[in-house]
Amino acid sequence: MRWSKYFLPTLREDPAEAEVISHKLLLRAGMIRKLASGVYNFLPLGLKALKKIENIVRQEMNNAGALEVLMPLVQPAELWKETGRWDAYGKELLRFKDRKDHDFCLGPTHEEVITDMVRRDVKSYKDLPLILYQIAVKFRDEIRPRFGIMRAREFIMKDAYSFDANEEGLEKSYQKMYDTYTKIFKNCGLRFKAVEAHTGAIGGDVSHEFMVIADTGEDILAFCENCGYASNVELTPAILGETYAPEKEKPLEKVHTPGVRTAKEVADFLGLPVAKITKTLIYILDEKEAVAICIRGDHEVNEVKLEKLFSGKKIRMATEEEVKKIVGASPGFIGPKGLKLRIIADKALENYPNFVIGANEDEYHFINANMGRDFTPDIVVDIRKACEGDLCPKCGKPLSFTRGIEVGHIFKLGTKYSLPMKAMFLDKDGKMKPFVMGCYGIGVSRILAATIEQNHDENGIIFPWEIAPFQIGVIYLKENLKEQAEKVYNALSENWDVILDDRDERPGVKFKDADLIGIPLQVIFGKSFEKNGLVEVKVRKTGERFHIKPEEITDFVKKFEDEKD
Ligand code: ATP
Ligand code: MG
Repeated sequence: MRWSKYFLPTLREDPAEAEVISHKLLLRAGMIRKLASGVYNFLPLGLKALKKIENIVRQEMNNAGALEVLMPLVQPAELWKETGRWDAYGKELLRFKDRKDHDFCLGPTHEEVITDMVRRDVKSYKDLPLILYQIAVKFRDEIRPRFGIMRAREFIMKDAYSFDANEEGLEKSYQKMYDTYTKIFKNCGLRFKAVEAHTGAIGGDVSHEFMVIADTGEDILAFCENCGYASNVELTPAILGETYAPEKEKPLEKVHTPGVRTAKEVADFLGLPVAKITKTLIYILDEKEAVAICIRGDHEVNEVKLEKLFSGKKIRMATEEEVKKIVGASPGFIGPKGLKLRIIADKALENYPNFVIGANEDEYHFINANMGRDFTPDIVVDIRKACEGDLCPKCGKPLSFTRGIEVGHIFKLGTKYSLPMKAMFLDKDGKMKPFVMGCYGIGVSRILAATIEQNHDENGIIFPWEIAPFQIGVIYLKENLKEQAEKVYNALSENWDVILDDRDERPGVKFKDADLIGIPLQVIFGKSFEKNGLVEVKVRKTGERFHIKPEEITDFVKKFEDEKD
């Protein structure tokens, strides 16, 4: 490709609309442009990267024996009513009516449609196992679309669905997809981790997320260097690493704590560690019942665990006004003593002597509170997020933590969809049985954003070789070097994706743009070529520079490609 003929509008400045680095760089590198909130155009460079990712995904799915299909974005409400998700899905499901007043939605996921496809035409165990997939647009009316294509409303997903005769079959299909995903993210040149995960709105019992490791990730992953255990912190059992030294219970004492609200402020005011302050948070269940959650001041509530505890009830934190109405004191001064609500205490409060609780009176706390003596919780249970200092639930060694971006999610669904939709086949024993299903998603467009979050510097994107839209840039700095540069450009183009910077621009602009769009290898015809006939090759990732004869460039690139890892 010749740069002068390409549509590649790069930007010098960070666009104000972007908060995170991948969004900024995708805009600056001329890869995407916003059309509406959470809805983006892909320009040629962005689409080229996207297609490379798609092809890696497609290749490995095909290798696993999965078959590609294409399903509509527009889906009839009837199917969603069969599984009950028409009512259950919430506002992420964009619903609308056609001119005949029939209800439709835009597909946020395709379990209903694929189950319908299979129940119509797959009748016998002989046709199983079957894995079908598509790479297509999804629409989710996200409550907060943000970070560009990282959390968009319209985005590209690869979704696959497996159909088996029984649990053993599902186990095999699931493992096959797990292995396939591992290959896909490796082939994309990404550092990633597979972790045990929460099943959320899709449902089912077992699931794993594939996370691209990045400091800017929204998810926190807990993992054990000793035994390999890894889970999304939403799911990680919290096992306290410390044991509390026994202490004599001291008398409860009410103290004046004016103007201090957060656990940290109370701790500083009283000259105690934050861990000694207990937070009491009021949650509302199903808009009906208020409950109190007690947790150490240095710990955080894990709402996924709360949701599980209250099995399926909708939970939310009470507003300040609600807290005042229910308890008669402001948030920050709430405590379990004398509270006429169900009290759920976190397990880390067990055997914890002499801590601080709110007094249910503004500007007052109790010090030296003891569970069992001063208040009795209804339940003591693990309700917090695991954190630094906690132990591995499998082997008991200390856990490590890192941030990640979810790029893939696989689920064992079982008969969650096939049963209500009566998707049945005739089994070996002559009986009709529901398909046993799995589903497997990859955020194809999110991978592009995650790649950039993981691979960038102050000058721009550092694309991994495997998904770089252009792997090599040939740059000439003077018009009289054009002919030689074109020769090398033509030769390299036979094997790789190459862009020739033939623009009438200053060297500084050409170098800046090549770094910005993340070209892994930059072949420069400049001073060194004029002086001694050697081209300069710059490696984007390391900044290394090599000087080589033009006729040796192809071999150089081959070697680089082989040794890059
Ligand atoms: P999240 O927790 O990030 O909302 P999810 O659990 O809703 O993700 P799945 O339903 O498992 O996601 O979808 C499969 C994959 O699609 C995800 O792993 C993610 O990579 C991608 N994905 C989900 N929502 C979005 C979105 N709004 N924008 C871009 N990609 C998305
Ligand atoms: Mg989601």
